Amino acid sequence: MMKSPVRAVLSATLALIAAFLLNTILADARSSYEFRRADAATKKACNALRSQLPFGRVTNQGLGPDYLVSVQTYYSQLQAKRFPACVAYPQNAQEVSTVVKAIKANNLQFAVKAGGHQFNNWSSSDGGVLIDLQRLTAKRFDDESKQVAYFEPGNRWRDVYAYFVPQGVTPVGGRIGGVGSGLALGGGLSYLSAEHGLACDTFTALDVVLADGSIVKATADNEYKDLFKSLKGGGNRFGIVTGYHTKLVPVGKVYSGIVIYTQDQWEKVIKATSDFVSTNTDKKAAIITTVDSFGILPDPTTKLNSFIILFNVYNGADPGTTFDAFTNIPHVLDTRSTGDYIKAAEMVDIGTISQGGFYSNVVPLKVGSDREQTLVNNFKVWSKEHIGQYILATVDYQPIAKSITDASRAAGGNALGGPEGPYIFVNMLLAFDPNLAADKQEALRASWDKLTNSIPHDEDIPKFLNDAGFRQNILQSYEQYPLMQATSRKYDPTGLFVKNQPGPNFST
Ligand SMILES: Cc1cc2nc3c(=O)[nH]c(=O)nc-3n(C[C@H](O)[C@H](O)[C@H](O)COP(=O)(O)OP(=O)(O)OC[C@H]3O[C@@H](n4cnc5c(N)ncnc54)[C@H](O)[C@@H]3O)c2cc1C
Repeated sequence: MMKSPVRAVLSATLALIAAFLLNTILADARSSYEFRRADAATKKACNALRSQLPFGRVTNQGLGPDYLVSVQTYYSQLQAKRFPACVAYPQNAQEVSTVVKAIKANNLQFAVKAGGHQFNNWSSSDGGVLIDLQRLTAKRFDDESKQVAYFEPGNRWRDVYAYFVPQGVTPVGGRIGGVGSGLALGGGLSYLSAEHGLACDTFTALDVVLADGSIVKATADNEYKDLFKSLKGGGNRFGIVTGYHTKLVPVGKVYSGIVIYTQDQWEKVIKATSDFVSTNTDKKAAIITTVDSFGILPDPTTKLNSFIILFNVYNGADPGTTFDAFTNIPHVLDTRSTGDYIKAAEMVDIGTISQGGFYSNVVPLKVGSDREQTLVNNFKVWSKEHIGQYILATVDYQPIAKSITDASRAAGGNALGGPEGPYIFVNMLLAFDPNLAADKQEALRASWDKLTNSIPHDEDIPKFLNDAGFRQNILQSYEQYPLMQATSRKYDPTGLFVKNQPGPNFST
């Protein structure tokens, strides 16, 4: 039988989530489909492309349900407000090549979409060509020894895990099943990273369509090794990946779940998080500490609209005493139990819910000062001052253990480079009504930037692409930026992927 305070908090949490979803649905209902007309030249190029590809591979603006699904299925509803001239659905690398050649020949604007979770609107296009990779869904063992996976970019992590995990192995991928494969090109933090590095560190080869339409296989030691390293975390600036070949790692029983704490425990949980980052050496242990505030009015009975959710995973059936420092802090909910890795990736299905418009920043932070606490204290003030103006605000502490940076180096290094761990990528994530007037959105972003910069950042740590904001100089903070610039000049001399496609700020 559940204790009554627990039940009260749980029901308040559920009520908040329901209100949050309702808010999202209302926001969707309010938004109107103002189809922005594509320009004549792009429309003509889309029509020409239709005739070059098999039937059904290109849908023009407004012409069919495929188009609406592509435009609507984004995590950030700001992306769902952009209307491409046409959407291309290539089914293999050759068809991706045909699309890229047409884009280059006509100098068209374009965007590439896999799972659609990017926070900075970099996988949607207004008036250009959207290359939707959703039909590239193959997955299989890449070798007879079953140590390497092959999967295509239209798979979400959930699809990849469903295929491999029952066979006792998994690629190192996203922590939330509903997220797409683009996560790996942005580095990719996994629950298994402390043992095996970032997702990109486990690449063994990448099939890539270059700006001239050529299809190449890049590996760590072939003629495309510069391209390979640039794609290990450098995102969408160099080509379109049509196939991932990645190391598989063994996986069996996994202990996973969330622990929820109320606001009065914040200080203790942040202290436990800092201690975990600086002292934990058990590579099987993973946490994300998320400090969350709903920007709607608090539940009248519990006054609850702020709490901490600890995402907790141990790659084994029994974590022993590893998480005792967290378990010993009074909490209101603990869902942790032993299951498989699929269960861990589905512990909270936040990967498929549409949650308004987003703005995200990253704070790279070494531990050992009081900045972790200061940031949360500043966040408390911010979230109260802005109540009613946002849907959800969250500050997420993601440990980068020394073993992660060791694993990256052992795997030949990635685009990020940077100092040895431990440190923290703090993801500052803000969700708001996507229909908010532009000036109000901008005011929220400005105040979120102010909060982000309210503590000093450690500038020698790379600003993690998957979490960073469009105003942060992301790739410039990477050790391999000069290599990435040279890679872009070599394989894409006219800058198609840099100039015609949205993405992180990059100059060659
Ligand atoms: C709920 C949620 C959970 C998350 N969890 C994690 C996590 O555990 N670890 C982590 O590191 N990050 C995480 N993220 C951040 C996530 O990695 C990024 O949002 C990432 O961009 C998602 O990839 P996608 O394929 O879903 O998105 P998309 O928006 O489709 O693509 C992301 C970017 O990659 C480009 N791209 C995608 N596929 C290709 C391709 N094949 N070739 C070339 N360019 C391509 C796109 O143009 C875009 O710029 C999470 C985000 C959300 C919303």
